[in-house]
Parts: sequence; structure tokens; C-alpha cells
Amino acid sequence: MSRRRMLWQLYPSYLLITLVALMAITWYASRSLRRFYLEQVTSDLKARAQLIEKRITILLASGNTAQVDLLCKELGHKTATRITVIRPEGGVVGDSEEDPTQMENHGHRPEIAEALLGVPGVSTRYSNTLQKSMMYVAIPLTFDNEIVGVVRTSLPITSVDDAMRGVSVRIALGGLVIAVLAALVSLWVSRRISRPLEEMRIGAERFAGGALDYRLAVPNSEEMGRLAEAMNQMAARLDDRIRTVVCQRNEQEAILVSMVEGVLAVDANERVISLNAAAARLLDLSLDDAKGRSIQEAVRNTELQALITQTLSKQRSIEEAIVLTGAEELYLQVRGTILKDAQGASIGALVVLNDVTRIRKLESLRRDFVANVSHELKTPITSIKGFVETLLDGALKNPENAERFLTKVARQTDRLNQIVEDLMDLSRIEKDTEQAEIQLEESHLKEALEAAVQACEVQASAKAIRIDLNCNDALRAKINPPMLEQAVINLIDNAINYSEAGQSIEVAAAEQESEIRVSVRDHGCGISQEHLPRLFERFYRVDKGRSRELGGTGLGLAIVKHIALAHGGRVSVESVPGKGSVFTIHLPLRSPKGVV
Ligand code: ADP
Repeated sequence: MSRRRMLWQLYPSYLLITLVALMAITWYASRSLRRFYLEQVTSDLKARAQLIEKRITILLASGNTAQVDLLCKELGHKTATRITVIRPEGGVVGDSEEDPTQMENHGHRPEIAEALLGVPGVSTRYSNTLQKSMMYVAIPLTFDNEIVGVVRTSLPITSVDDAMRGVSVRIALGGLVIAVLAALVSLWVSRRISRPLEEMRIGAERFAGGALDYRLAVPNSEEMGRLAEAMNQMAARLDDRIRTVVCQRNEQEAILVSMVEGVLAVDANERVISLNAAAARLLDLSLDDAKGRSIQEAVRNTELQALITQTLSKQRSIEEAIVLTGAEELYLQVRGTILKDAQGASIGALVVLNDVTRIRKLESLRRDFVANVSHELKTPITSIKGFVETLLDGALKNPENAERFLTKVARQTDRLNQIVEDLMDLSRIEKDTEQAEIQLEESHLKEALEAAVQACEVQASAKAIRIDLNCNDALRAKINPPMLEQAVINLIDNAINYSEAGQSIEVAAAEQESEIRVSVRDHGCGISQEHLPRLFERFYRVDKGRSRELGGTGLGLAIVKHIALAHGGRVSVESVPGKGSVFTIHLPLRSPKGVV
């Protein structure tokens, strides 16, 4: 249905009412006026007749009919009135316009018939004689209580019609002016009524468009004012509610965003309703793209898809461990639960993804470590067991053999002891680092390095290896001196072990690129590139046989790494096979230029 503006509904009806009223009034006024005119003409004609009534009665009574006709003609001419005198039997005696002898009997004309009955008669009709609409008034002429005739005066009423036409034109002109005025006034009134409504419509549209802080101007008419106030109140309440809802949603989003666990919601058709940043990261999805897509499309993992399908079909919680293969493997502990609306009806499923990769890796590290430790311990224990069995089998009786075997048993025991000591050192350092129990103090680095060099002096001179120390006396760092000393000893120890006799080793410490670097350089066998990334792992050895032969446990560099970490630093290695290696401990620079 087509809709029209209120103005165009109000205005034409006002206009129509005004025009109809105007026409009715004009019609009624013209009719009344015409009646009034005719009444005027009637009484005028009656008066004229009465004026000549006496003279004609006398002439009629005296039988002077020729005089009657002459009088009629004379008076009729003077007064511009047609005057006719008729006898009681209907014969015309005198007429101001015609010859009475030529005129027919008038006894049956209604006004004459009435006058003959003794009362004035009035009639308006078309006169065939004059070919005009005429008004006739007839009064009886009485002499000695006897009707001796009738005098009839008449006038054409065309003059009335002419006068009426003039008046009508004036009324019509006046009406037109009134109609124009009425049109203007009704336009103004229509506008006055429709404008506040229009303003309210615009306001309501702004509310609908979301501008709920907008307020409608309150018009001063009672109903409109109330309506505007009610709409303003409604907008204020709505604004308040929406703010609360937005606030709650923001809070929920903030919770979801800051959650470490991934949260993914799907509807009953397995389409993604929402997901948080953690879920997007874990499943490698884009937050915006995923919404609305089916889970099969969004997530390529069949296990996760199956878990969601099962949760939805079985309508109960399901928990499973899932491995996501991608750039790197992710181990997820996934729990699917039914998603319910406020009425408790199921509307989909909620999946919480817990990244347990780190825990899994730690578990696997622990397992590997236990396996490695067992393996490391097993070798010397097997050897010891073998020697002891040999001794028990009779070797004990031969003192020379017994001593040889016992020496070997002692060596293996030392090795076992060394492994256990290294492991204990390592776990102590790790534990202390974790609990932040390592005391760091601002100390001269040179002292700690000198102590380390000294501790290795005997071993070095046995291989005719010279150890050069290059460190500024004033260089200070925040360190735990015994621990750093141990780390440097481990590095020098390795450098000696993996150098040829007569080569040299340089121990140096200096401030470089806003850190302090402590390095141990040798010119020994070096390490090929592929081993470097794993060199600092526990029990990692490039050449197992050689390491064992040299009494290594494979834990030395792991200890160095953990000591560096305990100092808030790190370790690095550069090596060229056949040319030598440089191991560096990087310590963070806490106080510039080593000044306390
Ligand atoms: P190990 O007790 O066997 O020396 P480490 O953890 O100290 O154990 O060192 C691990 C491995 O790194 C060694 O087995 C050795 O192969 C290699 N390595 C360490 N330092 C050097 C070095 N200075 N030159 C060459 N190889 C080295």
C-alpha cells in the first residue's frame, strides 16, 4: 500500500470540508436572498395594486371601463408595472400593455382565482403574452361588500434574477477569497499538526540507526509532548541496556582473549560461532575468517572434527588428546562439552583446547634423561660386575690379576662417582636457578678466571699446553664466583682434552655490545657444524668413545649452559673442524663499565 505524507492526508480533507461548507453557505444565502427579493417584489406589487385599488373600484362601480383601461395604461407606463383589471367573471377590462378586448378570459389564472375568493393572490410563472417570467399579485376590488373586480399588478422577475446574478458573483468572489484564505490557514494548521510528528519520525529513525543518545524536542501539545517524552525515555533505557550488554560482552571477550586455553564454539550444524585468540593461534586460523564456516572447512584435523561430531551426537562431554601436525607438532588436550542456551536447550558444542606440548616435551625430556642416565650408569656398572665376577671366578687368587682388575674397578667407580657428582651439580644449579637462590655479587672477573686457569694448570702442563688469560683487572660483573669458576674450568678442561699437546688455549673476558663475554679458545680438533645445535644437551657427545676415554661424562657443557642461565646469560660456540673452537659465556651487563 502506498503511503502518503500526513500533511497530504490532512490538508485535502480540510480543504474539502471548507469548500463544501462554503458552497453550502453560498447556495443557502443565494436562496434566502432570492426568496427575500421575491417577497419584496410581492409586497411591492401588492402596495402598487393597493395604491390604485380605490380609483379603479370607483371607475368600475360607475361602469366607466374605457377610463379603467386608460388609467391602467397611464399608471403602468409611469410605474413600469403591468397593471391588469379583470371583472369577476374573468373578462379583462383594462391592461397597461395590451388591448383588453383582444385578451382571453383571465378568471382561471391562479392569482385571479384566489383574489376572486376575497384574498390577495400571488403567482410566478411564464407569461406567454410577454414571453417572460413574471410575478403576478392580484387583490380583490370590493364595493359594498361585493367583489366588483380584481386588480393585478405584475413585474418581470428577470430583474430579480439579474440582481441575484450580481449578488451571486459577489458572493462567489467573496467565497473564493475565503477559500484561498481557508486553504492557507488549513495548510498552516496541517503543517502545525504534522511537523512535530515529522520531527518525531526523524528522531525515531535516528534511534533506529543507533543514535540512542539523541533526544527529541518536546512539543508543547499534551499528546505530542507525552509521546516525545515516552520515546526519549525509551531511548535512554535502551541505551542503558545496550551499554550493559556491550560491557558484559567486552568483559567476556576480555576473559576469552586473555585465556591461555583455546576456546571454540560451534552451533548444532557444526559451524563456528566464536573462537578466542588462543584457539585461532593453536588451530592456525584467522579470527575473522573462521566465524560462520563449518568446522570441516575451518579445521583440517579429523580427530578434532570427530570429537565435535561425537559431542553433538552423544550430547555429553568428551575429552581426548589430539596431536596437530603443522610447522611444529602441537599436543592438545581437548574437551568438548554441550553448549546450552539460557533455557537449557542444546545449541551446539564448546571445545576447550589445552596446549600440553610443553608438558609433553618435558615428559619426553625426562624420559630421555632417565634413559640416558641409566645407560650412562649401566656401562661402568656392567664393567664393574664383569671384573668382580672374574675376580670371584678365581682371578682373586692371582695377586697380579687381582690388582689389575681392582684398579679397573676403581676407575669405573670413579667414573660412576663423576657422573653422579655432575648430575647432582646440574640438578642443584637448576633447582637454585628455579628458586632464584643463586647469589650474584659484583666481583672482579679476573679473580674467578685466574682461579679457573690455576685449577687446570696441572692438567695443561701434562700436555705442555699454555693457557693465556686476557682480562682487564678492573672488569667487574654480577656473578657467583665459584659457579662461574666451575663453568670456565669445564670449558678449559674440554679445551685441553680436545687439543693436541703443545697447543695453546686463550681465556679472555671483555665487555662487548652491552654484555660481558667470557671466552675459551682452543686450536684443537674442532667440532663439525651439525653437532653444534645439540652440543649443550645432557650426555651429548660428538665422539662417545673418545669422551669416555678422556673421562668425560657428557654433562660438562650442560653444566656450563645452566650456570650461564643462572647468571641471566647464555652460551654460544663457534668451531671449525681441525682449527679449533671458541666457547663463549655471555653475561648481561648490569652496571655499566663494571662500576658498582
Ligand atoms: P664431555 O664430558 O664428553 O667433555 P661435554 O659436555 O663437556 O662432555 O662436551 C660434550 C662434547 O662436546 C664432547 O664429548 C666433545 O665431543 C665436544 N667438545 C666439547 N668441548 C670441545 C672442544 N673444546 N673441542 C672439541 N670438541 C669439544
